[in-house]
Amino acid sequence: MENKIQFRDLNRQYEAIKDKIDTGIQEVIANADFISGGKVKELEEKLADYAGVKHCITCANGTDAITIALKAMGLSGSDAAFVPDFTFFSSGECPASLGLPTYFVDVRKDTYNMDPDALVEAIECVRSEGTHRPGVLIAVDLFGQPAEHDRLKEICKRYGMYLLEDGAQGLGGRIGHRMACSFGDIATTSFFPAKPLGCYGDGGAIFTDCDEWAELCRSLAVHGKDMGNPDDPDAKYNNVRLGFNSRLDTLQAAVLLAKLDAFKDSELDAVNRVAKWYGEILSDSELVLPTVKPDYYSSWAQYTVQLPECVDRDGVQKKMKEAGIPAMVYYRKPMHKQRAFANTASAIADCPVTERLCETVLCLPIHPYLRREEAERVCDKLLEACESSARIIG
Ligand SMILES: *Cc1c(COP(=O)(O)O)cnc(C)c1O
Repeated sequence: MENKIQFRDLNRQYEAIKDKIDTGIQEVIANADFISGGKVKELEEKLADYAGVKHCITCANGTDAITIALKAMGLSGSDAAFVPDFTFFSSGECPASLGLPTYFVDVRKDTYNMDPDALVEAIECVRSEGTHRPGVLIAVDLFGQPAEHDRLKEICKRYGMYLLEDGAQGLGGRIGHRMACSFGDIATTSFFPAKPLGCYGDGGAIFTDCDEWAELCRSLAVHGKDMGNPDDPDAKYNNVRLGFNSRLDTLQAAVLLAKLDAFKDSELDAVNRVAKWYGEILSDSELVLPTVKPDYYSSWAQYTVQLPECVDRDGVQKKMKEAGIPAMVYYRKPMHKQRAFANTASAIADCPVTERLCETVLCLPIHPYLRREEAERVCDKLLEACESSARIIG
């Protein structure tokens, strides 16, 4: 029987690095240092070094990471947040939850990342209304490819805004030699199991070069504790601001330490090889394939194609599923159409690219352990399903 293809094959990954993961977990249990144990600190140092930033502060998940970062930036209700219309819910949920007026901005059709021209338009529009001032850009490294940070940063500088890089899907990506999670004034990531670097539960991290923000984030992640004097035995009983209970478990840190080595040493190369196979096999098809900009490197959180509009996507997905091939739709709905934002956030202009992507995108199985013959099987089934799911137009 043919192997079942997994959307992300965490079992194969575990088989490959089982000894290291098991040993790490056993050590944590033997030492019973489940909360803020030695491995958390070790992981933070390694991640900061990997991303090329001064500080890494781990926390409970990628959503908390964004919320904590926004709080550390000291933004208030008159500071507008700009967020891509095509992204995971959290990117907009966090600023809107903190009461920031949140505006959604259209993305590019080829890279799926925020369109800098649309951003400028949105900022100008908010400025001309005069009720809010531009406060922060949440730039998402969607599907593993860094956003256009050089241009985005320049725009942020021009308008006096902070840049928060939502690198939940971006870790491992690069622009030239500069690593994802180093581009924002603060950057965040997620270790949800399906992300490029995932743990065995929830986890997240915050990255920054700023000493003051790093200390604030550390405090916010542990109930706003006093970071003033680490030698003061009473300091940990002093809460100087309202925060969260948002720590990364030591067990998850142990898993991540084992996985980080494989991630750096082989998995990023391997997943890029799979993306290359897909590109080769599908090059003559009518599908729109994902574009990686010159000098950019993706960690391929997703491999997302666009189906021709005449194809019934639900039909394709169903036929692939019947053939044992999972394909997913990220994302089905523009952010500005989510009911949760009905009274808190808006798109300034239409976001026609996002609207269209939401109708046509399909994400194929991709992970470092996918084999060439499996990639071929995915493509065969996909093309076959597209052909038989073409709607009659007329
Ligand atoms: C997954 C994700 C998040 C949230 O991360 P969690 O760890 O699930 O809270 C935020 N932003 C983006 C773009 C994501 O993909």
